Amino acid sequence: GEIISLPDIDPSLLKIQETTKAKTPLPSSKLVFGKTFTDHMLMIPWSSESGWAEPVIKEYGPLSLDPSSTVFHYAFCLFEGMKAYRCEDGTIRLFRPDMNMARMNRSAARIALPQFNGDALIELIKKMVMLDSKWIPSEPGYSLYLRPTMIATQNSLGVGPSSSALLFVIASPVGPYYATGFKAVSLKATTEYVRAAPGGTGGYKLGANYSPGVVPQVEAAKLGYAQNLWLHGPEHYLTEVGTMNLFVVIENEQGQTELLTPPLEDLILPGVTRDSVLSIAREHAAGKIQVPGLPASDFVVSERKITMPQLAQLAKQGKVKEVFGAGTAAIVTSVDNIGYEGTDIAIPAGPEGLGPIAKAMLDRIQGIQTGKIEHEWSVIA
Ligand code: PMP
Repeated sequence: GEIISLPDIDPSLLKIQETTKAKTPLPSSKLVFGKTFTDHMLMIPWSSESGWAEPVIKEYGPLSLDPSSTVFHYAFCLFEGMKAYRCEDGTIRLFRPDMNMARMNRSAARIALPQFNGDALIELIKKMVMLDSKWIPSEPGYSLYLRPTMIATQNSLGVGPSSSALLFVIASPVGPYYATGFKAVSLKATTEYVRAAPGGTGGYKLGANYSPGVVPQVEAAKLGYAQNLWLHGPEHYLTEVGTMNLFVVIENEQGQTELLTPPLEDLILPGVTRDSVLSIAREHAAGKIQVPGLPASDFVVSERKITMPQLAQLAKQGKVKEVFGAGTAAIVTSVDNIGYEGTDIAIPAGPEGLGPIAKAMLDRIQGIQTGKIEHEWSVIA
């Protein structure tokens, strides 16, 4: 039969219903992550019969959903985390929003929710960011955290693909992750729980991946650790740090400085920051760019597996130079200790709570995000 394609997201149909009750932003010093929201939200409903409906930007406020909506029962929910930055040159910029859109579409496909044109959603997000731009703090390190979300709204208890969905975007002004300067964290290598398994959903940004991580996190905190380190398999392969991707810097057998991160293998979330760190490191290693703070020679970058026993052995030999997490929230976070099977493994973390390679990455990525380093990754809203 004839294939009729349903309407995609169409920014030209956008309706803006500006609020008449605009709020006054909190002073930046009072911000707590994810607690304050801007005046507006972007909403785009979808149905299997008529595709993506017209986008609406309207007053931020509660949703009204039938209690039978599939999102409430079977966790049909996916999201993104990205930021808009107010820059010294007066522009407002997004960082690699195309990566978030691609990941959001992959997540949607994994739970039978609809795909959409990522460029169209970026255009709409820019409109919302500009409408709520007074909410973007101007202090260095501050930004507007954006939370694109998609949920299934079909009213039915049957487990199956949803015939309706809602895509929405909300925004929250946020401060620097570490308000009083960077601080290295301790990790508990978690051996009693897993975050992801082969063929599962760890490589997708689904809401369902996050609630089961809370108890392991609380248990790690009770033992005095800041985060948990997710392992995989009986070999105890390192995978992720809390909700960040993991990097290890070692002196390898050839005596080179090796920046290593585990391969994604559909088990690890493909972080935008992870990809950025890898790309910067590879360009530097290839001599295409010179990044201050990265080793001038004998520097290699690899995506390969490493187990906890291997890491413990390298640490004992003094060959672990740095361990750090990478993610949108803090960009990088250095690790100074890993608790594994009853023993604490000390990791060097630098005098200012950041190892030298983590610091070099922070400076490079922040420079691009704030427009101080001109780069195609930085997209003006
Ligand atoms: N891993 C997990 C499990 C995460 O939730 C996140 C945050 N999105 C990351 C890694 C880092 O991803 P990104 O760099 O895109 O923020």
